[in-house]
Amino acid sequence: MLNKNFDNILQKKVFQILLESVQRTDIESYLVGGVVRDHLLGRGKAKDIDVVAVGSGIELAKAVHQALPGARPIQVFKSYGTAMIQWEGITLEFVGARKESYTRESRNPKVISGTLEDDQNRRDFTVNALAVSLNPKNKGELIDPFNGLEDLEKSIIKTPLDPTITYTDDPLRMLRAIRFASQLNFKIENKSLSAIKENVERIYIISKERIVEELNKTLMTPKPSDGFLLLEQTGLLKNILPELIQLKGIEEIEGQTHKDNFYHTLEVVDNICKTTENLWLRWAALLHDIGKAPTKKFHPKIGWTFHGHEFIGSKMVYKLFKRLKMPLNEKMKYVQKLVMMSSRPIVISEDTVSDAAVRRLVFDAGEILEDLITLCEADITTKNPNRFRRYHNNFKIVRQKIVEVEERDRIRNFQPPVTGEMIMKYFNLKPCKEIGFIKEAIKEAILEGEIPNEYEAAFNLMLKKGNEIGLVADGE
Ligand code: ATP
Ligand code: MG
Repeated sequence: MLNKNFDNILQKKVFQILLESVQRTDIESYLVGGVVRDHLLGRGKAKDIDVVAVGSGIELAKAVHQALPGARPIQVFKSYGTAMIQWEGITLEFVGARKESYTRESRNPKVISGTLEDDQNRRDFTVNALAVSLNPKNKGELIDPFNGLEDLEKSIIKTPLDPTITYTDDPLRMLRAIRFASQLNFKIENKSLSAIKENVERIYIISKERIVEELNKTLMTPKPSDGFLLLEQTGLLKNILPELIQLKGIEEIEGQTHKDNFYHTLEVVDNICKTTENLWLRWAALLHDIGKAPTKKFHPKIGWTFHGHEFIGSKMVYKLFKRLKMPLNEKMKYVQKLVMMSSRPIVISEDTVSDAAVRRLVFDAGEILEDLITLCEADITTKNPNRFRRYHNNFKIVRQKIVEVEERDRIRNFQPPVTGEMIMKYFNLKPCKEIGFIKEAIKEAILEGEIPNEYEAAFNLMLKKGNEIGLVADGE
């Protein structure tokens, strides 16, 4: 059931001010886009409000800005005829109604002023082209020239005009269609799907930043596999993330097969989305197996192997981020580290879980430990219920062990109980490799559980190791 009554939402303060400003300036205006769509679907918080003015959107924005106490300075983009206001966590965007005409090389159209109808024509999908009047004469009335309501009811993504034109004009809309389908759990109309398939190659005119923005939004939907399967079926994924396409398929040699790592990956992504809103952890799930394509080998005795795929995969993460102009910062390193370590907890959970193995895991994973285990749990996609239960149970044991080991041994953010300075002072040394040798021996002994993570035990080991390599205490 659609929520067609806009009276209650228009009662809110920000809309009251909008309505007053429209009346005062006498600029014909409408709510449009996401705010209308999401209110109808009952999923909106009305945090992003798009307003279209038949006339100057900037002038209306200035009037609204004056009436909003404590709003941040208004941002005006004169050349686009748009303005933006941020107020109490709400973003208002204003645009003058326009007509657009496109050239082949660019998704930035030539723009001239137009009517509301012109403006609705240029919008990407029927469900995004619904407008609600803010004008005194028909306040709250819904203007729906393309049967957007019907498409909302039927959960369909469809373009107002001929889809071939819509997608050729601005190929970003292909990614938007898929993102909305995934976000709203809608189907993309067949004609639209065909038009997307025809226009796949045109994705090259879209900037990497915009592509990534849509990928991120798709990854943040409740079930990203819906979106990624569409990206794959339309051929877009091959152009954007070919590394994932390489994971597709099952090979068989001498009766031995391996799993399809593409579909497996999508399952892992869906799984992790049930437990985290962290975009970068979701990226790590998407990329955790990309090293499997280049490392795949068949050995007649052991079957299919992917030796070193974690290491190769983490190198590929860097290249992929660079190619897509994604940030090459600590977020990328975080994803790389998760990919690099993605098999470590599994190895532990398969055997009886030894303290030493847990200490090493905690030491190596550091900050990412919880996320790493979350990733590994999401990685369990076996359809065998017994195995499924056993693997999850093993990770429970790993988690429990981590708590125990943490309490006792304080391995995370490990600070050696005997420092390099202490060693130098005691043996009266200048910086040299012997210091590193002793420090390493102490760290290893602690991780292996041979000595506790305490000063006295570490100090004694320092003496022993020092003696072994012929060092003498200062003053002896
Ligand atoms: P959300 O904010 O949840 O992403 P939205 O529909 O509000 O959804 P915006 O990107 O904020 O999306 O755009 C606002 C409106 O502007 C859209 O609803 C649509 O009508 C129009 N629009 C945005 N991008 C395009 C585009 N590339 N082509 C045509 N119309 C677009
Ligand atoms: Mg919006």
